[in-house]
Amino acid sequence: MVLPPPHNRGWILPSIIVVLVLIAGGLGGVWAALITLALGFAGIAAFHLAHLYILQRWTTSSLEHYTPLPEGMGVWGDVLAALLRREQKRVAFQKAQRQTIEQFHRMAEALPDGVIVLDDRRHIEWANLRAQQWLTLDLEKDRGRPLGNLVRMPEFLRFLADDLDETPSGDDLAQQQRTLVIPSVFDTGKTLELQQVPFGHGGRLLLARDVTQYEAAARLRRDFIASVSHELKTPLTVIVGFLETLQETPAADMPEQTRAHYANLMRTQADSMQRLVDDLLTLSALESGAREKEEEWFEVAPLLQTLQQQTQVLSQNKHTVTLTVPEEKAQIYGVRDELVSAFNNLLTNAVRYTPEGGNIELSWAVDKEGRGIFAVRDTGIGIAAEHLPRLTERFYRVDRGRSRASGGTGLGLAIVKHVLLRHQGELTIDSRVGKGSTFSAVLPVARVGEGG
Ligand code: ADP
Repeated sequence: MVLPPPHNRGWILPSIIVVLVLIAGGLGGVWAALITLALGFAGIAAFHLAHLYILQRWTTSSLEHYTPLPEGMGVWGDVLAALLRREQKRVAFQKAQRQTIEQFHRMAEALPDGVIVLDDRRHIEWANLRAQQWLTLDLEKDRGRPLGNLVRMPEFLRFLADDLDETPSGDDLAQQQRTLVIPSVFDTGKTLELQQVPFGHGGRLLLARDVTQYEAAARLRRDFIASVSHELKTPLTVIVGFLETLQETPAADMPEQTRAHYANLMRTQADSMQRLVDDLLTLSALESGAREKEEEWFEVAPLLQTLQQQTQVLSQNKHTVTLTVPEEKAQIYGVRDELVSAFNNLLTNAVRYTPEGGNIELSWAVDKEGRGIFAVRDTGIGIAAEHLPRLTERFYRVDRGRSRASGGTGLGLAIVKHVLLRHQGELTIDSRVGKGSTFSAVLPVARVGEGG
């Protein structure tokens, strides 16, 4: 409601009294005029007192519920109207402020990060839901409480104690000091990166970011580099050792046979390094996502026959290698070289982990759902159930010594997994210790054809 501008109506009441006094004086003489004047003043006083009372009641009314300002008469009408206008402006201003705050809260809730607003004494003023969950806070209860009392970790307390004003902004080192990474906060399993920036009058804004996945990836990278270095170091140490011996021993003092033996041992180690580097390059090419070769349809039967022959050669006829391909015309759609490398890895493993005299069976079949299954079954040493979930991890080996001795790099199954992933397939493993294993490369329906 918009009120008209105020008019000064303070003259109305005194004018009425003057008229009444004149009439009373004319009719009843001086006394009557005086009495009317006195009554008039009393009336004016009562009028103002009544309005003062109304105003006093309004100013002390509850702020929670809006109480409309009563209308007044005479000069009070103008005063109260002016007050009402002020009040309306204040209400509109407050509403705009509330909307801004609500918008800020909505924005802060929509952020993928946790946000905590702290006052100049590091007491909590506000926190979004994410920050409350991650730091197990409850804003209802904890608003106004010191954050340091609620998150009692020494490194966090030191971090909070940092005087932000003393470090110039834009300074990288200062920025680092304002950042803290805390692993597994309150057993939530999350690793949080906290950052604080000055905010408001001496307060600060605390931002929390979930860096769990990033940290896990960084750890994986660190472990991987450590593993590769370790894997390369072993054969390299052997080679360097032999080279030193060869350098330090005069040719005349070393029989030709010993020299040849050393050369052989060095060759074995160099081969193992070569295999490792080759596998690493294959794996990194697969992980990079880039494809060197195009996908194509190719026949399964002739490929498996070649694989069977190669496996027989690899096994040096120490195993019986059989092949079952019921569907002669079956075809696969994919990158031939990648799939051949995956199948080869499974076959090489079967040879490595099956003692002499055992059987290795290659098979291709299409299951009820139409998926193509390339399986390698062996009667080898088998794998205990607890190792199965980790077998495709890089460098995971059940028996490190046995793997190395048989020329394993620990990367074979990781390569198989990646190749199959790139073909939307999967690797399933079924194994029993002492009985043997079946590794199945399962390819999706869309990649399996009848041919013909
Ligand atoms: P490696 O080069 O050591 O063979 P892989 O990634 O190919 O590495 O295999 C990982 C581990 O899985 C091997 O070290 C071995 O312990 C186990 N494994 C793989 N295939 C077989 C199998 N057919 N029979 C028994 N164990 C196997």
